[in-house]
Amino acid sequence: MKVRIGVGYDIHRLEKGKKLVLGGVAIPFSKGLTGHSDGDCLIHAIIDALLGAVGEGDIGQYFPDSDPRYRNIRSTKLLEIVMEAVGKKNGSIHHIDCIVIAESPPIGPHIAKMKQALCPLLGIGKNDLGIKAKTNEGMGPVGRGEAIVAMANALLLWD
Ligand code: MG
Repeated sequence: MKVRIGVGYDIHRLEKGKKLVLGGVAIPFSKGLTGHSDGDCLIHAIIDALLGAVGEGDIGQYFPDSDPRYRNIRSTKLLEIVMEAVGKKNGSIHHIDCIVIAESPPIGPHIAKMKQALCPLLGIGKNDLGIKAKTNEGMGPVGRGEAIVAMANALLLWD
């Protein structure tokens, strides 16, 4: 059996008047994440962890932001494409563990819905997707509410 670990990190800027989408879930808030896609930094971190585990580079190489096909695309769609790549490599996800760092809005109340949105795409159960919510204790750009950070680790297995 072969085991491979991938790690992912992402940060996106929060801007007034944008829709906030995180972990595939629309969250009511006065600001949203900017980006070429819907700005969903949690899904982007998961994608980078998966691409790292299968040796396929990173999200920027896989979905260049110069490509108009990916403008305003839902990140759940990007995740579907990456899962096809994982499938082609015959890997299966054992589990994924993530951290979201946001000063506001509170992320904890949305975690169950994020799991509902992401687990079917990842082909894992809700106990195999960890999502932990933290704040940055008021420090730095995340602490000032200017950005949201996400990190992910993915463990993939091959028989
Ligand atoms: Mg990103």
